[in-house]
Amino acid sequence: MKVERFLGSREEIARKVAETLGGLYDEAPEKAVPSDFEGGRQAGLRALEKFSVRGYAGTRNKLHGNVSRLSFYIRHGVLGLREVAESVRERFGQSYDALKFWQELGWRQFWQLAHARLGNRIYEDLEPAKVNLGGSFPEELPEEIQQGKTGLVCMDESVRELVETGYMHNHARMWFASFVIHFRKLGWKAGERFFYRHLLDGDPASNALSWQWVASTFSHRPYLFNRENVQENGGKKWCERCEANCPFAATYPELERRFFAS
Ligand SMILES: Cc1cc2nc3c(=O)[nH]c(=O)nc-3n(C[C@H](O)[C@H](O)[C@H](O)COP(=O)(O)OP(=O)(O)OC[C@H]3O[C@@H](n4cnc5c(N)ncnc54)[C@H](O)[C@@H]3O)c2cc1C
Repeated sequence: MKVERFLGSREEIARKVAETLGGLYDEAPEKAVPSDFEGGRQAGLRALEKFSVRGYAGTRNKLHGNVSRLSFYIRHGVLGLREVAESVRERFGQSYDALKFWQELGWRQFWQLAHARLGNRIYEDLEPAKVNLGGSFPEELPEEIQQGKTGLVCMDESVRELVETGYMHNHARMWFASFVIHFRKLGWKAGERFFYRHLLDGDPASNALSWQWVASTFSHRPYLFNRENVQENGGKKWCERCEANCPFAATYPELERRFFAS
């Protein structure tokens, strides 16, 4: 049954929701735009059926690679994890792409189990950091980062996508978290809050524990990236129009020296 039959078009629904959320939603209601992503069980099932896992393993790290974008349906229980895994098995068997995809579902399950055991401790460092995290660890990210005005096109464009659509590709999440934690030395908690506020799939366990994984407080080493990695997986477009003195144009040993020298 289509929700539009009761509430009007998606544009009208967006306006009504904005009116209802007055005080939380700070734009004028008529400026509210419907999300690119359609919610609900029927839309979730359609997205699942449409998703072909072919090419997943080889391209999932690329910003324009073949990822499912099913995370918000999974996060909110609209699609079950087993249901998603089964659908892929039935349609694609045990191909390498399917195995890689199940591995990623496995990460989600692992974070959920860790959360069930750790409770609110996921919001505190689970282990001592393996490197010098330094910094002042504010509660909120600085405005220029939240508004996508750092001057680093790769970060600013990722933030713009997050704020406008509620989605950010996994690799861009890793780059952004690493930028916040290891380059800007802001700790992981303010970044975790920022993501949770904007991600449609925002999930306490996957989010907090992924931030800790990047920080090295729930992994054996920090996650770092360099410009070559961004260009390989995101293309050269961002770098070509970036006027910043790129802090990531270096080898990994050089970045480690720069970021972690105490
Ligand atoms: C800093 C950071 C914060 C994150 N915060 C969240 C979050 O709040 N909620 C969330 O669902 N995921 C989070 N992730 C994990 C991952 O980025 C998203 O699940 C993925 O990008 C969703 O896109 P997709 O559905 O196209 O993924 P696909 O690649 O198509 O993967 C299929 C499904 O597997 C699960 N999955 C894939 N990768 C991961 C992963 N690394 N960890 C856990 N589950 C995974 C998701 O349920 C996803 O829908 C975070 C990752 C990082 C690095």
